[in-house]
Amino acid sequence: MAHVAFIGLGRMGHGMAGRYLEAGFTVAVWNRNKSKADDLIARVARWAASPADAADGADAVVTMVADDEASRAVWLGTDGAAATAKAGTLAIECSTVSYPHALDLARELRGRGLVYIDSPVTGLPDAAASGKLTLLVGAEAADLERARPYLVPLSTTIRHFGAVGCGTVYKLINNLMGAIQIAGLAEGLAIAEQAGLDMKLVLESIETGVAASPQVIRHARRMVARNFAGASFTATLRRKDAAYAVALAESLLSAPPIMGRAAVESYDRAKAYAPNDDEGKMIEIVSRAKGTT
Ligand code: NAP
Repeated sequence: MAHVAFIGLGRMGHGMAGRYLEAGFTVAVWNRNKSKADDLIARVARWAASPADAADGADAVVTMVADDEASRAVWLGTDGAAATAKAGTLAIECSTVSYPHALDLARELRGRGLVYIDSPVTGLPDAAASGKLTLLVGAEAADLERARPYLVPLSTTIRHFGAVGCGTVYKLINNLMGAIQIAGLAEGLAIAEQAGLDMKLVLESIETGVAASPQVIRHARRMVARNFAGASFTATLRRKDAAYAVALAESLLSAPPIMGRAAVESYDRAKAYAPNDDEGKMIEIVSRAKGTT
């Protein structure tokens, strides 16, 4: 049975690792905070002492951690997965990282004989736990075919955007557009509230009008109700993605990405206010009445 090393058991990674167990893979898991692995260990995952220990003997190493810094640590740090992964091992980075990091990591890991693909995801933690993610892949076509058996348990859709890094490019575009929409929605709702509109009617109009995207519809009711239970995507993570996307835009476009920069600024405030809460909580600061702080 194929061996998977799964590294990073946060909201997304925990469910993804569970999918490999359900599909019958032999799974080694590592997370910085071990307690998140307890139930996976009870389901016969092997607890690894380090990413290097997890990768020892693995056919594929799959990582799902917060950002560039975390990705660098688990792959290339002391006791990182690259220290023990054998030549030919699939290196599947599912975390949302910056474009330069995806390219640097690919170069490093290929230099050590690994087969790298970037595969950031869309879908919330419930989709991760039920194998219903969409994977946004950057890889050589032959490498994707080799990796496919390790991608299928996680996903209902695999979109191949091109060479390594292209999956990350699309993921950053996707999340920047989401950031802009959510920040715009918060401002629109805040204006409606302070102007004294009937918010039930406002919601109905948003949901049936032309301005709403699925992202806007997902957040509108929660924002109006101030219901942020079960945070699935935090202000910190959204701010990170928007900032990576803006850096990419600045490297490619002659015009400044003014919408993206405004979204980063909105999420700077949201992150300072409630870094680990649901990103929609930004409505609480945006909606304060003029003259209040
Ligand atoms: P999360 O719950 O905050 O988990 C983050 C994970 O990264 C945890 O396993 C954490 O370890 C680990 N980590 C953070 N810093 C680290 C470091 N320096 N060294 C080693 N490990 C480190 O985040 P998540 O929601 O699962 O998101 C994971 C990735 O998926 C992110 O790149 C995010 O942008 C992306 N994503 C998230 C969603 C979503 O809806 N949540 C959707 C699509 C994509 P500890 O547990 O020890 O803190």
